[in-house]
Amino acid sequence: MSVDISDADRELYARELRAFLPARIFDAHIHLFDRACLVPGYQFPPRNCFSKFGGAFTLEQYLAGMAAMLPEQECHFNSFGLPSYDADLDASAAYSGRISDNRGRFAMALVCPSDTAAAVRRRVLENRLIGYKPYLDFVKGKSRNDVTIHDMLPTAQMAVAEELGLAIMLHIPRAERLADPVNQAQLVELCRRYPAVRIIVAHIGRAYYLDAVKGLLDGIAACPNAYVDTAMVNHEGVLEYTFRHFPRDRILFGSDAPIAFLRGKSVEINRQYAYLMAEAYDIGTSIYDARGAVSFTTFYNEQLRGMRLASERAGLTRAEIEDVFFNNASRLFRVAAARYGTE
Ligand SMILES: [Zn+2]
Repeated sequence: MSVDISDADRELYARELRAFLPARIFDAHIHLFDRACLVPGYQFPPRNCFSKFGGAFTLEQYLAGMAAMLPEQECHFNSFGLPSYDADLDASAAYSGRISDNRGRFAMALVCPSDTAAAVRRRVLENRLIGYKPYLDFVKGKSRNDVTIHDMLPTAQMAVAEELGLAIMLHIPRAERLADPVNQAQLVELCRRYPAVRIIVAHIGRAYYLDAVKGLLDGIAACPNAYVDTAMVNHEGVLEYTFRHFPRDRILFGSDAPIAFLRGKSVEINRQYAYLMAEAYDIGTSIYDARGAVSFTTFYNEQLRGMRLASERAGLTRAEIEDVFFNNASRLFRVAAARYGTE
């Protein structure tokens, strides 16, 4: 039901992470929802990772997990629900609103391209949310690799985002990711056309292998309202490249919890990547270690390890490490929440 943390994980924290991590951590990318956020009667398939957590992942589960994983850190976050047709988008927004305070806990509304501008405006404002979480699966009639960013974020919804100064958590579509010229052009176009919107390119543009990031950050780096989050990126080469080639005041720590609480590691293989997994859950290109050939820690810990190594190699100062893990996100989300008067 909950997050399993072992003695080995606790030793890893004490040995490798405690001295590196700032006292405050801001996780810009987590999925929190309860059963009422799902369409009535929906059951996750047994190999869906949410089955591990009892078919939901609530604020209470997250806080308990973090208290066990990072016992000395104060954890702030930005959350959203499950971006899927199995979720009720309005119920998810209501839940997100209930668990956020716009001080240390912020949340976004799931948005689907068929939602009207009025509907997304209401979903955000009524629940005191600070942005949108669109998703490629919400685009109908196109295969995943043909979806464009513009398909995910129609003009009318972007106009609302600009008016309200929202943040957008964007999981980019298309097989070539940041190397895709359509993605590159549309990312820069959105940033320029909607300067009050802050666009967070999730997972560093899904860069889980080095060629998916090398030479590909310059376009968004030149846009002052473009950010990246590090969710599920444990590749120290990708992280080091990002620290060297993307403004350090616009890099946000993100985890993708609870997926990051599974035991596994993402590894680059021949210009691709696979999730090596200790548990038989299906996530992306997962390969399950059924024989127990190695003992795993969580994706979360592997990411923190990667970030530590990359920050050493790229020469991040203590202040820059604190910015990436806390200040950059805290600043961004507080600005997005300023309309609610909680500053
Ligand atoms: Zn996610």
